[in-house]
Amino acid sequence: MNNTKQILSLNHCTLSIVCPMYNEEESLAVFFNRLLPVLVSAGEPFEIVCVNDGSRDATLERLFTARKLEPRIRILNLSRNFGKEAALTCGIDHAIGDAVIPIDADLQDPPELIIEMLQLWRQGFDVVLAQRTDRSADHFLKRKTAEWFYRLHNAISDSVIPSNVGDFRLMDRKVVEALKALPERRRFMKGLFAWVGFRQAVIPYSREARQAGASKFSGWHLWNFALEGITSFSTAPLRIWTYLGLFIALLAFTYGSFIVGRVLLLGRDMPGYASLITVVLFLGGIQLIGLGVLGEYLGRIYLETKGRPVYIVRDHFDHEA
Ligand code: UDP
Ligand code: MG
Repeated sequence: MNNTKQILSLNHCTLSIVCPMYNEEESLAVFFNRLLPVLVSAGEPFEIVCVNDGSRDATLERLFTARKLEPRIRILNLSRNFGKEAALTCGIDHAIGDAVIPIDADLQDPPELIIEMLQLWRQGFDVVLAQRTDRSADHFLKRKTAEWFYRLHNAISDSVIPSNVGDFRLMDRKVVEALKALPERRRFMKGLFAWVGFRQAVIPYSREARQAGASKFSGWHLWNFALEGITSFSTAPLRIWTYLGLFIALLAFTYGSFIVGRVLLLGRDMPGYASLITVVLFLGGIQLIGLGVLGEYLGRIYLETKGRPVYIVRDHFDHEA
């Protein structure tokens, strides 16, 4: 505790752990019990920035209890639930360390890796990624859809998100400042992390099952998250309609020529209801999809132009100055 006071009064620390929390009352005690010994053994001044993302359970009270024992825990209490990406952004914005590590509160990201991350950081890497080699803790469908998402995203976007890499990583201050300078409000963190680049190292690890409680991300949630990721970093879905339109126009022209030729050569045919209705429905469907994609981007422009803040902090429980 004494050396803690000394460290805090300097108002500087080497390592910031950033932890977004939403309804994590069950995980908290176990989480700190496992995280703190690792941080202490790392032997660097540290802070733990906990962002309470509008939890409806006793997360905030548990955080206060933890902070009484460990004043290096800072609490940022958001005014409501803003979602993980916003909570993470908030934590990263407020972290003061030379290296920042976002980590989930459910112990799915093993804190022990932090030691190894720090070593690689000292060797000169700006970003140290933790890559899940074993996702057997996630069910089959989640694994498969995640794999498809990474493939599609990387095929059509400029920046490549390494597959099976989450938010758990070490970032140097340079990287954090670069991230903070990105003006977008809809923040797809994985994509932003990849976009800024820098020198990266990868540590493989095996992902454990959630410590307690259930994942906050349902299938529908993940689907929207994937759409967010793709529309944030690629305009390919917009461009594809030009080519699809050209292709369909070409098909229509060929088929039209064929019909006209046949009438000229063989005389008038029976009216073709089946082919007509097929073409009409097909084109109608294609146009609707195209409109949907336009709408998706338009929606993003709309949300960005409003320029609302990504999150609102209700209370700060910070380092005592
Ligand atoms: N989380 C958050 N706000 C939300 C949803 C989740 O801050 O609206 C936090 C949650 O408390 C946890 C982390 O984000 O620390 C990851 O959430 P979860 O374990 O539910 O996601 P999964 O591991 O299934 O991807
Ligand atoms: Mg989790």
